[in-house]
Amino acid sequence: MASFVADVHLAKLAKLLRLLGFDTLYFTYIEDEELLKISKDERRWIVTKDRALCTRAKRCLLIRAKDPKEQLEEVLEALHLTQCQPFSRCLVDNALLKAVPKEEVLAKIPPKVAQWCEEFQWCPECGRIYWKGSHYDRMKKFIDEVCG
Ligand SMILES: [Zn+2]
Repeated sequence: MASFVADVHLAKLAKLLRLLGFDTLYFTYIEDEELLKISKDERRWIVTKDRALCTRAKRCLLIRAKDPKEQLEEVLEALHLTQCQPFSRCLVDNALLKAVPKEEVLAKIPPKVAQWCEEFQWCPECGRIYWKGSHYDRMKKFIDEVCG
């Protein structure tokens, strides 16, 4: 799978890429030199709106759209990405999520969620628990379109 490092102004795009399972680094502050180095060392695609930065990188996608979903489509189209693994990464820190039995998370989830949801994922990095809730429903149609 393609991996990315997002420029500071593309936080929402970085989250969407993670939502689809793409390994995506994001820093609230980072120097251009550092972005270029990470891209080169880790063979990651830079996603940025900075044309000058893009001309200096081997792997760089210049993003034009304002809407995060459209930005995501630009990325997927540019790299012909049709495969994705939605809900496999933490949206906050990019770590790979692990399935966790319901019994183990019962104390940490809202009682209403416990009533209907059986599958839970846990982030080993920050401890957040994920389930296919309202965010999932909102995104499902989009994800189906994007991931085929
Ligand atoms: Zn996390």
